[in-house]
Amino acid sequence: MNDLKMIIDGKEVESSSRQRMNVINPATEKTAGSVPQGTAEDVDRAVKAARQAFRKWSRMTPGERSTLLLKLADALDKDVQRLGEMETSQTGKPLKLSLNSDLPFANDNIRFMGAQARILDGTAAGEYSPGYTSIIRREAVGVVGSIAPWNYPYLMAAWKIGPALAAGNTVVLKPASNTPFTSIEIAKTALAVGIPEGVFNVVTGPGAEVGGAICRHDDINMISLTGDTATGKKIMEQAASTVKRLHLELGGKAPFIVFEDANLDAAVQGAVVAGYVNTGQDCTAATRIYVQKPKYEHFLEQFVSHVKKIRVGDPTKPATDIGPLISKEQRERVASFVDRARKAGIEVVTGGRPLDGPGFFYQPTVLAKAKHEDEVVQREIFGPVVVVMPFDTEEEILQKANGVEYGLASSVWTRDVTRALRVSRELEYGEVWINDHLPLASEMPHGGVKRSGFGSDLSRYSFEEYTNVKHVMADLTGEARKPWHFTVYGDQA
Ligand code: NAD
Repeated sequence: MNDLKMIIDGKEVESSSRQRMNVINPATEKTAGSVPQGTAEDVDRAVKAARQAFRKWSRMTPGERSTLLLKLADALDKDVQRLGEMETSQTGKPLKLSLNSDLPFANDNIRFMGAQARILDGTAAGEYSPGYTSIIRREAVGVVGSIAPWNYPYLMAAWKIGPALAAGNTVVLKPASNTPFTSIEIAKTALAVGIPEGVFNVVTGPGAEVGGAICRHDDINMISLTGDTATGKKIMEQAASTVKRLHLELGGKAPFIVFEDANLDAAVQGAVVAGYVNTGQDCTAATRIYVQKPKYEHFLEQFVSHVKKIRVGDPTKPATDIGPLISKEQRERVASFVDRARKAGIEVVTGGRPLDGPGFFYQPTVLAKAKHEDEVVQREIFGPVVVVMPFDTEEEILQKANGVEYGLASSVWTRDVTRALRVSRELEYGEVWINDHLPLASEMPHGGVKRSGFGSDLSRYSFEEYTNVKHVMADLTGEARKPWHFTVYGDQA
């Protein structure tokens, strides 16, 4: 059982509400532990602590911040087994995914930001106007309110705090209500390695109350959200009155485009992993698979035969490929998409039903014969449901691939290098893979366009999002009357 507290100003604290919220293990439906049910008052306490800490943290040298972030990554690496088990207990994701992918990658992301902290540079100083030297300073934005989703809680916490802290900001992080444990543990580890009190605060609680209070708070300078597009829109509205900077990583509906010359075995395997990893609860998941007509039937047959072999079950067992959905509500949402599709005449080639509990399990599902306008093609389902569709020409597939409101991730499968590059150029997505789908790198940006949001995670581009650019312009003449003052004084001496 994990009965954890919030972290405010370096202390483990209960909420002003005195209430606690249970966290359910989605694989067993049993209580995995509890956290305080935070309030707007708690957010205010955390913001005050973060503001107080900002002066000291932002004025530490980049080298000092870097050292602390590297220490944090090392300490987290040492604790990976315990934290991985905790991550799996709150998400239901396979332990092999937590231990071999999510956690080590997140720790590497923090380590990268530790290194990036020392490269907080602007362009060189120079004379761009006669008699003046201009200097660019890159400075921390201030207090950042970070709001994270439940699908990769540990990874998302790392993506939010890494660049923010590296650049000298302080953070108030709100993890998703279902998955608060590991964010709290990262904050405790940060304190243990010497990151000062108040630099990294965690307030747990419901989205509308705690998230809303973060968005509206007068003394928060920036909001970073990873979540649903609908939540992104709400946050834009809530943050408008205080004109906050926003960083929004929202939903996706990734196309996975297989041309007839592609290595079909590779494409089939790639589609299984990219479609169903994390039970399809992945913003970059390959949810729309398009196969060029001569190979469509063959691909579908092979794909379905692989999907039928996916082992759904106890996430702590190494032989399990995918675990449950995060919650009963999420499973109902996924099931309702499939039920409506079935009623609309879309073929459910395999799967399409919840699995017996306990646990919020759902069969890996393949849909076919859907039209471009159908909601299963247009909307993010966020579950183990993949639609496979045929196409004829490159022009047609580009229209269809780009014909959704999202623009996060996409992939193209072909042996023709000119086509791969041409299609990569035309895809309106923040990310295009060629002959693979899903891998990311700490050094490379990840982010969306269109209604998938704006701003990057990972890489120096993310780091830059968490800084302001300041122009300092210095007079070199010491003269009282500058040459341009005639614009006011006219021709007077
Ligand atoms: P969600 O939008 O329901 O919740 C995200 C966070 O926002 C949670 O912490 C929630 O409590 C909070 N929240 C909810 N309502 C709020 C409000 N009114 N004001 C402030 N905060 C509020 O998302 P989710 O269901 O937790 O996660 C799944 C979504 O996240 C999917 O749409 C997925 O595509 C997206 N996602 C995107 C990326 C990316 O990199 N683009 C990565 C992971 C997940």
